[in-house]
Amino acid sequence: MPTVVCGPSGVGKGTLLTYLKQYYTNAFAVSVSHTTRQPRPGEVNGETYHFVSREQFEQGISRGEFVEYADVHGNWYGTSKQALRDVADRKKIALLEIDVQGAQNIKKLSGVKAFYLFITMTGYFDNNKLLPDCGIELLSPRLAGRGTETIEQVEKRMKTAEKELDFFANNRGFFDKVITNDDLKKSQQDITRIFAEWYPWIQTQ
Ligand code: 5GP
Repeated sequence: MPTVVCGPSGVGKGTLLTYLKQYYTNAFAVSVSHTTRQPRPGEVNGETYHFVSREQFEQGISRGEFVEYADVHGNWYGTSKQALRDVADRKKIALLEIDVQGAQNIKKLSGVKAFYLFITMTGYFDNNKLLPDCGIELLSPRLAGRGTETIEQVEKRMKTAEKELDFFANNRGFFDKVITNDDLKKSQQDITRIFAEWYPWIQTQ
């Protein structure tokens, strides 16, 4: 049974999943999604994503090749059935790092049973004041700091992040577990503990 991992861009999902994969060697693999967005420097086709054109993606949709897909900040993103088969062939458990629309589609439409994890962060201190929301202000400089995206792209991502946090705030019961990633060390402990609970047979090696 796979795990679906959601959370706003820049919240540290990738870092935590990399830690998890290293901690439980050979147990988990992130399924390689398809996307129509342009590769960023350093991203490898077939590893980070399968980078395809809109036409190719839409052909895939009409052929029923996707378990789920969604338009995320203006590009198509989707998990193909083949991507899940590839993980299963390697005898690993799939981690799906997808947006909340995709997560809802998996839960409601795909017939695939999964665990659902949301990664977020709380507010932070600014001028000695704790910002009360889910940390949207924190995401913006982090995203900008990546330096790989234009201001426009960062703004789009901010809007998407807000939508993700909004869905989370209004649908808390949707997720089986939540990690509040304010302290990386603690979040690393949280994620390994949660996965040991969900998949009790996995072991560190
Ligand atoms: P990025 O462009 O930064 O790689 O990814 C942006 C967002 O797209 C991610 O935060 C993730 O939520 C979403 N995403 C990535 N792959 C998939 C996918 O296969 N399906 C869906 N629905 N969303 C995805």
